[in-house]
Amino acid sequence: MITRDHSPADEGVRFLAEAGQALAASLDWEQTLVQVARLAVPALADWCIVDVLEEDGVTIKQVAVAAADPRKEDLLREMRALYPPTIDSPQPAARTIRSGEPVLFEEFGKAELHATTRDDHHLELIKRLDPRSALAVPLVARARTIGAITLAWSESDRRYTEPEIVLATELASRAALAVDNATLFSREREARAKAEEAVARLRDLELISEAALTHLDLDLLLQELLDGVRTVMRADTAVCLLLDETGDELVASWARGLEEEVEAGVRIPVGAGFAGRVAATRAPVFIPDVNKAEVVNPLLIKRGLKSLLGVPLLVEGRLLGVMHVGSVTSRVFTNDDERTLQLLGDRIALAIEQSSLYESARAAGRRLEFLAEASELLGSTLDYSAALERLSELAVPYLGDWCIVDMLRGDLFERVAVAHADPKAQAAAYEFLKRFPITPDAAHGPGFVIATGRAELISEVTDEHLQRASGGDPEYLEALRAIGMTSLLCAPLIARGRVLGTITMLSEHERHYGPADLVTTEELARRAAVAVDNALLYREAERRADAARVLEHIGDGVFMLDRDGVVRLWNRAAESVTGLTADDVVGRLAAEAIPGWSAIAGSVPVATTPATASSAETLPLELPGRELWLSIAAVEFNEGTVYAFRDLTADRVLEELRSDFVATVSHELRTPLAAIYGAALTLQRGDLELDETLRGNLLSVISTESDRLARTVNDILWASRLDADRVQLEVGMHDPRELARTVVEAAEVHLPAGIELSFSCEEDLPPILGDPDKVRQVLTNFVDNAIKYSPDGGVVELRIERRDHAVRFIVIDSGLGVPLSEQRRIFDKFYRVDPNLTRGVGGTGLGLYISRELVRRMNGTISVESREGDGSSFSFELPVATA
Ligand code: ADP
Repeated sequence: MITRDHSPADEGVRFLAEAGQALAASLDWEQTLVQVARLAVPALADWCIVDVLEEDGVTIKQVAVAAADPRKEDLLREMRALYPPTIDSPQPAARTIRSGEPVLFEEFGKAELHATTRDDHHLELIKRLDPRSALAVPLVARARTIGAITLAWSESDRRYTEPEIVLATELASRAALAVDNATLFSREREARAKAEEAVARLRDLELISEAALTHLDLDLLLQELLDGVRTVMRADTAVCLLLDETGDELVASWARGLEEEVEAGVRIPVGAGFAGRVAATRAPVFIPDVNKAEVVNPLLIKRGLKSLLGVPLLVEGRLLGVMHVGSVTSRVFTNDDERTLQLLGDRIALAIEQSSLYESARAAGRRLEFLAEASELLGSTLDYSAALERLSELAVPYLGDWCIVDMLRGDLFERVAVAHADPKAQAAAYEFLKRFPITPDAAHGPGFVIATGRAELISEVTDEHLQRASGGDPEYLEALRAIGMTSLLCAPLIARGRVLGTITMLSEHERHYGPADLVTTEELARRAAVAVDNALLYREAERRADAARVLEHIGDGVFMLDRDGVVRLWNRAAESVTGLTADDVVGRLAAEAIPGWSAIAGSVPVATTPATASSAETLPLELPGRELWLSIAAVEFNEGTVYAFRDLTADRVLEELRSDFVATVSHELRTPLAAIYGAALTLQRGDLELDETLRGNLLSVISTESDRLARTVNDILWASRLDADRVQLEVGMHDPRELARTVVEAAEVHLPAGIELSFSCEEDLPPILGDPDKVRQVLTNFVDNAIKYSPDGGVVELRIERRDHAVRFIVIDSGLGVPLSEQRRIFDKFYRVDPNLTRGVGGTGLGLYISRELVRRMNGTISVESREGDGSSFSFELPVATA
């Protein structure tokens, strides 16, 4: 036959092709080797064993058997189970694995049987398997021997020859490749699974990190985080314990699956037990069996936890606490688990840190908001009791269950605000103060705070506190106990160094005040104190402003000097009386600012209370250029002295004038009267022979003095008429020269010796507008004065001049003259330069007053120019009459 269906070579190729296909079908290497065994029987053996070398490099494990006779498969399994080959055992599989080369027993005889078995039973089993020819080939993949295929011819009684060895070797190498592939695959799959798991873990971690960032509430955040931890770690419990403030104890703070630990408030000393050890060593601790470990927390055992893994919670090397996970089944937490939990722990620690930072930042923010709100409402009104009431309402419940504000009124406390959720309790708090007044000897609370001026914080109010506070009064103690306070804060209201009152915060619940609350309350108290102080100051300022306004409008001059004698107040009346403005004097020493003050200050009667004010004293205040007569009295108070005065100058002047007038007039009347009386008596005497001359003289005295008398009386009458405004004027057009001429002529009749009278007048003088009698009266007065005040004689000149729209009458003498300082006042009623008549010139002081008043009524002006001892020039102008 040229063509044969089955040449051995062809068969071999087909076998291998089939084997390749079959081997490629599975990626499970054990399955692959089962496949190899099946392929080998019957093509290459009557029975076949496939072994693999375990990872330890010593143990050889049978993975597949195949036999043409099914009973032999069981025998093969039995034999392998009883006599598993190892790397150094005599079986062909072991030999080929050792050498890496095929091992051939072409003839499997007695000797071979003995050489490849361990004992009789083994020999027995082999005998029953009845190998006649045997071949073992190694499974070599990528230069590594991974196992062996053992082939045996039995019942078919064949012998292994070279081609079969080649074929078997080929099969082995393909099988090895397939196994290698399968292993690689499964390794890869395992790796991928691990990667996927890692990814999943990472995702969980990310979730945790995200949670850490998005959550603001630490409790919620931690619960979520611990749920995440349980998932990632596939644990039954997850617990977080935080280090307390002292750093000596761990406090169970959050738990999932072991909530009772937190509820019980478990505290574990650092260094003790499981969590304590984690904290002390700052390193992970794995407890494989809770029952065999030193665990302090009985809850862990009660919960039925078997294995525990704990890690420290660290942030930048600082220990925040401990986190642990537990499993109710015995479990080995691997290094990976440890790393993962530590990673989670780091994140959770960060979350706690951030969150607590955030919490404290938020708490600080809330505090600031609260204080800002408090400030706003305090600043919004000047009614401080209303403001304090609203403030206390704002403080509850933010700062506690109670907010009580007590203000000091003298030595007594007044409760001005109480805030509490229950209105009945609120009302009771007011009653409470009435029953048990606050005293400065109190051991705690407002009395104590007032006495010390410092805030008090009792974080945990104990019965001892209440006992001390009650001062041994059993009723008071009962009442204090009934409040049921758990924590107390009391801060003084201090403004400008003065303690105004207290603000007290009480907590009735778990809330215990800490340093942050103390700071807040103190700040609140400070702001409240400032507001109250402002309100009080404002009230005082208002009161003072009212008083000042009253003072401003009071008719009496009022001024105040402080203890140093500095003028602090100077009212409007004081300004107008003295002519000194407040700007001139306020803030300056009275002795410097008020001229003449030093001279009278000591004489002013000063009372210590307004009630005891004595009657005022009338004193002269010497101001520049004038003298004021003040009726002045003062009241002294703790800040200084208040003076009130009334201007008596006018009264005083009048008073003086009156007495001067009486003196003058009586003199002016008595002198001529005495002369007339004397002359008349002389004339009447019968015993005296009077010659004509003497008689004539006596009669002349009588007539002159009568005239003087008449003039004086006339002056007085004129003055009183002018005062009463009862002077009638007959104003008309008159020739000034004509008017003056009659006056000069009248004067010349009784001109005294030594006086020369001259009269000059401009040509073409226009007529004046005036009452001719009054013009003459003024001119006569001027001429009379000029003569009278020229006791040493001289020229008296009357001159008439033209002015723009007026005519001027001037009387010039060379007599005594008028001092400059007196010139303004000589026109005043009763004013006389020399009232004491030192030069013996009499007068009423009314002439010039009458003259001024008459000229004024004729729309004219009057003036004087003079130098003392050098004569005078009196003049008046009257308007020109325009036709
Ligand atoms: P009397 O009755 O005192 O003269 P008068 O009113 O006429 O009153 O004058 C007031 C004062 O003016 C006089 O007391 C005098 O001191 C002063 N006096 C008036 N005229 C003259 C003058 N020609 N020369 C100097 N002093 C004069």
